[in-house]
Amino acid sequence: MSSMQKYISNTVKSIPPSGIRKFFDLVSQTEGVISLGVGEPDYATPWHIREACFHSLEQGYTMYTSNSGLLELREEIAKYMKKGIGIEYNPEDEILVTVGVSEGVDIALRSLIEPGDEVLIPDPSYVCYGPGASLSYGEPVSLPTYDEDEYRLRPDVLESKITDKSKVLILGYPNNPTGGIMHKEDLEALVDIIVKNDLIVISDEIYSELTYNGKHVSIASLPGMQERTVVLNGFSKAYAMTGWRIGYACGHPDIIGAMTKIHQYTIMCAPIMAQKAALEALRHGEGEMRKMVEDYNYRRKIIVSEFNEMGLTCFEPKGAFYCFPSIQKTGMTSEEFCEKLLIEEQVAVVPGNAFGESGEGFIRCCYAASVSNIEQALERMSNFCIRHIK
Ligand code: PLP
Repeated sequence: MSSMQKYISNTVKSIPPSGIRKFFDLVSQTEGVISLGVGEPDYATPWHIREACFHSLEQGYTMYTSNSGLLELREEIAKYMKKGIGIEYNPEDEILVTVGVSEGVDIALRSLIEPGDEVLIPDPSYVCYGPGASLSYGEPVSLPTYDEDEYRLRPDVLESKITDKSKVLILGYPNNPTGGIMHKEDLEALVDIIVKNDLIVISDEIYSELTYNGKHVSIASLPGMQERTVVLNGFSKAYAMTGWRIGYACGHPDIIGAMTKIHQYTIMCAPIMAQKAALEALRHGEGEMRKMVEDYNYRRKIIVSEFNEMGLTCFEPKGAFYCFPSIQKTGMTSEEFCEKLLIEEQVAVVPGNAFGESGEGFIRCCYAASVSNIEQALERMSNFCIRHIK
């Protein structure tokens, strides 16, 4: 077949392929793998949420909704945001229901970025932010974060990377891949810099419910920050609803209006079945969600103490369902470690550098796997470390 590469846009060509794709191709060819690789709950969506979807189908809810999403869902999101992060959003024009946080990141960036604008992104971070910035013709700029700071973004690092082209700061806390969180005082230390430099914040709070020992704080709740922050959240992680593809964006009506414009021409609306399920999750799902979070908390404690014991040193992650141990004592790069671990012990974890340069020397392990899988993976990893840590 002849190459069609010359037809592909340079913007798309310039985006590096996902750092984990090659690795997961290898995982799929290996027998008997235990995976701590994929960032996905091991639970199916709670039954009452699935049932609410069946009932809505029985009642014939199979059509488009308003572009912004069902008003009753937006009203429920408004209540949830008020209770969760203490901010009032008007469901009429300050909330947009999206196809997951993924769509939210994309259309927030496309609404805000002019070609050449710089998008500041803590490193390591979730893999879609940098490519999302490039696809909006922006320039992703890395803000290194460090293990010794538990990957909180430092104000001096932010300040040192600001230029007259800086436009947007993306904050993804609790953080994928590190499990780091930003405490209120960490966020407060950024506010002056953000305001002085007239930055807009896109705050991806998809792991907000998965905050252990305390409550998630949104930067949007700090004085002066609500209007310059787009908060993104969704149902994938907290309610085990990854496949439903449902999330939302909250922010200033001008920004939500711009995002809605892109959304209406590209997506029309999030699927009504998923919106009905999300409504049920918000109305009656808190109990089951809290139980899942408690379970993750239990698994978190097991995994962190075992890693430290086997020599993969790891701070205690305070959020999300990842931990990010150092593999530096093995003398391997992150990719070498992951490939060898897969081949020798059939355990899949993700190289830290897939999430940015600052992740080199670390691996991401997801503990949203079953306790028995976590225990077996830990036993295999411990054997591996006995052989490879001198
Ligand atoms: N944001 C972060 C930080 C994530 O880790 C993920 C998925 O792993 C997403 C967004 C994607 O979320 P959604 O399923 O709502 O599109």
